[in-house]
Amino acid sequence: MLVTEHTVPGEVQNGFANAGAIPEQRWAFHQQITARNMMPPKVETSAPIGDEVKTTTCYMCACRCGIKVHLRDGQVRYIEGNRDHPVNKGVLCGKGSAGIMQHYSPARLSAPLLRSGPRGSGEFKEITWDEALKLATKWLGDVRDTDPKKLAFFTGRDQSQSLTGWWAIQYGTPNYAAHGGFCSVNMAAAGLYTFGGAFWEFGDPDWEHTRYFMLFGVAEDHASNPIKMGISKLKKRGAKFVSVNPVRTGYNAIADEWVGIKPGTDGLFVGSLIHELIRTQNIDIDYQVRYTNAGWLVIQNKGESDDGLFARDKEGNPLAYDKNKKKLVNALLPDITPALSGEFKLSKGRKAAPALQLLVERFASQEYAPDTVSEETGVPAQDIQRIAAELAHAAFKEEVVLDIPWTDWAGRRHEKMIGRPVSMHAMRGISAHSNGFHTCRMIHILQILLGSIDCPGGFRYKPPYPKQTPPYLRPFGKLDDVIPREPLGGPHLGFPMGPEDLLIDNKNQPQRIDKAFSWDAPLAAHGMMHMVIANAAKCDPYPIDVLFLYMANMGWNSSMNVESTLEHLTAKDDKTGEYKIPKIIYSDAYYSETVPYADLILPDTTYLERWDCISLLDRPISEADGPGDSIRQPVIEPDRDVRPFQEVLIDLGARLHLPGFINKDGSAKYPGGYPDYMVNHERKPGLGPLAGWRGKDGVSFGTGEPNPKQLEKYIENGCFWFHELEPNQKYFKHANKDYIKFAIDMGFRFQPTRVVFQLYLETLQKFKLAADGHGDIVPPAKHRKRLKTYFDPLPFWYPPFESAILGNEDFPLHAITQRPMHMYHSWGSQNAWLRQITSQNRLYMSRERAKTLGIKDDDWIWISSQIGRVRAQVRTMEGVNGDTVWTWNAIGKRKGAWSLDEEAPENTKGFLLNHLIAELLPEQGGGYRYSNSDPVTGQAAWYDLRVKIEKAGIAESEETFPIFEPVRSPLKTDLPDVLRFGAQFKGADTKVGTKA
Ligand code: SF4
Repeated sequence: MLVTEHTVPGEVQNGFANAGAIPEQRWAFHQQITARNMMPPKVETSAPIGDEVKTTTCYMCACRCGIKVHLRDGQVRYIEGNRDHPVNKGVLCGKGSAGIMQHYSPARLSAPLLRSGPRGSGEFKEITWDEALKLATKWLGDVRDTDPKKLAFFTGRDQSQSLTGWWAIQYGTPNYAAHGGFCSVNMAAAGLYTFGGAFWEFGDPDWEHTRYFMLFGVAEDHASNPIKMGISKLKKRGAKFVSVNPVRTGYNAIADEWVGIKPGTDGLFVGSLIHELIRTQNIDIDYQVRYTNAGWLVIQNKGESDDGLFARDKEGNPLAYDKNKKKLVNALLPDITPALSGEFKLSKGRKAAPALQLLVERFASQEYAPDTVSEETGVPAQDIQRIAAELAHAAFKEEVVLDIPWTDWAGRRHEKMIGRPVSMHAMRGISAHSNGFHTCRMIHILQILLGSIDCPGGFRYKPPYPKQTPPYLRPFGKLDDVIPREPLGGPHLGFPMGPEDLLIDNKNQPQRIDKAFSWDAPLAAHGMMHMVIANAAKCDPYPIDVLFLYMANMGWNSSMNVESTLEHLTAKDDKTGEYKIPKIIYSDAYYSETVPYADLILPDTTYLERWDCISLLDRPISEADGPGDSIRQPVIEPDRDVRPFQEVLIDLGARLHLPGFINKDGSAKYPGGYPDYMVNHERKPGLGPLAGWRGKDGVSFGTGEPNPKQLEKYIENGCFWFHELEPNQKYFKHANKDYIKFAIDMGFRFQPTRVVFQLYLETLQKFKLAADGHGDIVPPAKHRKRLKTYFDPLPFWYPPFESAILGNEDFPLHAITQRPMHMYHSWGSQNAWLRQITSQNRLYMSRERAKTLGIKDDDWIWISSQIGRVRAQVRTMEGVNGDTVWTWNAIGKRKGAWSLDEEAPENTKGFLLNHLIAELLPEQGGGYRYSNSDPVTGQAAWYDLRVKIEKAGIAESEETFPIFEPVRSPLKTDLPDVLRFGAQFKGADTKVGTKA
């Protein structure tokens, strides 16, 4: 019998019933049967593995991929990527799959806790939510009634900053920020001030068209699936991929060319590429005229209060010299022909030069010549020259032309979109240095000079970017903004345009506890979370009463020195014996190293148990082709007495009677918690946290009335919303009339003006002039030298502070960290599946360098910095700059935390470089000690670290040092020897819904 599972018995019988038909019919039938018999047996490749599938958004790193969670019997069975999702298109990484073990982690907190022993002891008693919320309301309410700035509210890598920031505004404290101050503010601020966008969540390379891609100092965990997918596209098309990184791992290992640069010298390398492009005249001059301030005239009036500012007309418009009209004109007008070089006369005998000329003078100098920078960067001069030539070739000889007509900001129609297919991407390796702001600005200027911003093949903005340059937003939190029981006048974080926007009092004292937006760090656009605990413990600039932290393991694995941080958290007043930070409230899902140092613990859920909103008001999931946002929905019910932090914050908002969280009658405005807020909150009329399916009938997007069925629509659509731009809106968004109109309709932009790229950044010059004593607001003497040096309106390179101060002799090696691709912050290294990939980090160093020190694989060594030493085990390798050592971050753990066995490798052999990183720089003039940060933005400079290495003695312990006393754990988990998951499903694979 020829029946297979693919044949249909009825058809076969019918066929034989026709056996007497005419020969052609019989032959056709024979062919049909033969074909069927040759088909392979059907294999079920996607047998149902659960009884329910729910979509949501991954939170195992910051990429926000769409996932499908398969559930069986109310448990998570399997996680797969959502193929329809714009971010990952079905791709799921190892972290994403291992979300199961994150969810079922034995380190999960299970009930609210109140500290019962000394801070750090880990002694807690369980309390009810009612008790916890009453206590938090009392602590927070007392502060709000008297002096709201005595609350410092800071959050880590959460994805709900549009809610947390809004809550802090309603509360009225100036002391709010998230973790950007030690992560990436240099990238964000340099980009936003220069061209209204930035790398990472703000923009992407044009993976479809780029011909030459340069990747600088990326943290591998950050741009995870999207960058992997992008690089695979480049590889398929044969585009060149150059990585600039002291370490050749991860993405760098598959680059076509690896530039093993010395840490902190990227600015010198990029400056040298600019030097070469200028020398060989490979600058897109038309692009500079159309889109930048190249032709704006800069006043040259040494020693006077207008020196270095733009020459302006009576209306305040910048001036240019029009070569055709032979006169000064408003530089913002279309169709002018600005001079880009020369000297021009202004009124009162003053002179001026075009911005581009000043830029060219800076980078054409020998200071940036390849031969000059080669030794400092470790990059041979001929390689710099060749890479510059390759960039120029890709940009100008391989231009991409798309047959898409578009209209520019001035209404001029262009028949085609012409692109320079060079793209770049950078992240923490650039950002976490004390010269990171200027280095990042140099990378953007390199892109701009090549004409490769938001063009086919170049860097592409992700909506809602680009913003105006500098963005319109100014920080709130001046003295008269902070009033008991009143909200703050506006958002905490913004972009100062000059000294008048600083948050200082009339004695120049910082208004924020982290000293952001003060003379210490004027453009601290993300705040300075790394300084909050230290400053609060020193009551500098003032004491606080409550420190409220969310999802930030500040006591262990941030950018900060661990020992000092723990000292600050436990510091007591000599007279009263009370803690200097009197009350600490902390919310986290896990028993991290920071939990034992808090007084009141509000246990959070895992990401699979809650609603979340990845909003266009914060950091959405937009792609370069269009805006998008997404949600998380609870796919599983919590089995512990925990609550999502966002729900708790909304509840506290109502209990504290914060405006925005209560109705006129005092009742809670969002009784349905976070989902209620996500749907019904309006930041402005019609503008809410979610952009999709707005309006009563759910047919609008961007703006529109709240739609009661909005969350249902998101869930139906896989928990995301995405709008693809029209082809004529997709490029040149900074100057594209149709895109700008769309951006205004969406509430992204306020004015129909183009974004003008700032080659020359006047904002910095205003601070420099203030340091020279000009203007009403001038810095105290102790800050002047620093401001004069680093507030240069043109980017420049200077050695990272630690190298400049210590030199190379005592501490000859740079020490940096990378986060493993398979882990994210400290969450991943407690994950039973991910720990199997890495449970002990080593200090990686060059094989050759190790040989000169008599060090070989597995040796135990001492790593010493100016402030301490750490014992670790070595692994030698080839792909690392010879002057650099590095390790995986976040592997070392403290005994007692994270529910790991006390003898787990993470506790005994894993280590952190944090023990070596100084919180403050050595004394500067006048004895003042600045934070170890970038002087412009306040970004923590934890990649500046310099160390020396010595072999540990044979008799010394084969354990890491320092090992801190174990913390006691309040968790009542009965830990098995081996943590397993999934055995309960075995044998049940084909019987959906039945237990194993
Ligand atoms: S890249 Fe990040 S968000 Fe995407 S699946 Fe992996 S862990 Fe999840």
